Amino acid sequence: MKGRMMDKFLVLASNNKGKLREFNAMFAPLGIEVVNQGALGVESCEEPFGTFVENCLQKARHAARVTGHAAMADDSGICVNALNGMPGVYSARFSGEGATDEKNNRLLVEKLQGVDDRSAHYTCVLVAVRTPEDPEPLIAVGNWYGEICDRAAGEGGFGYDPHFFVPAYGKTAAELTAEEKNRVSHRGVALVRMAELLRTNWGW
Ligand code: IMP
Repeated sequence: MKGRMMDKFLVLASNNKGKLREFNAMFAPLGIEVVNQGALGVESCEEPFGTFVENCLQKARHAARVTGHAAMADDSGICVNALNGMPGVYSARFSGEGATDEKNNRLLVEKLQGVDDRSAHYTCVLVAVRTPEDPEPLIAVGNWYGEICDRAAGEGGFGYDPHFFVPAYGKTAAELTAEEKNRVSHRGVALVRMAELLRTNWGW
């Protein structure tokens, strides 16, 4: 593309500015430029599937098809073992129409009343493709393990963080600083793994 500073150019199939900042912080030092799909006129596409990887693949292919560039998509959520991995891809809309973090957390705590197994993990899946037909999508997964606690604690983070207790810190995710969280979180781990895949598989 004319005028591009770097030829290692990746369209992010998301319009979230916070994610773009986080992804660029990881990739810019590697000479990889990441741009939100909205800046290139790409509309977001449906996420109809029940698994993270299928939704990511659909989003990455769509962005690659519309822009003609390599593209990467991300999807994340919380998976609770006693609920067979739910809410999973439905994490943002767990409590249905008009879902909020507060309603989602209330429902999660309700569903775990009387349940001993509190183990859960956040997961982040990243999928990158060079073209929509790429036969070998790069797939990086990061997990962050913890336990669901009944009582909310902490003001930081978002989503399920006040109820996500991290034994290694003896605190909930919402009680960690942003730096502490980024260092160990599912997204941080998946980003490191994707950077390695881009290097080894694409020569970036
Ligand atoms: P998305 O990947 O941005 O669509 O996130 C999906 C949903 O998963 C969010 O709306 C949250 O409910 C949940 N989630 C993902 N990552 C986190 C996290 O780091 N903390 C809390 N909730 C998260």
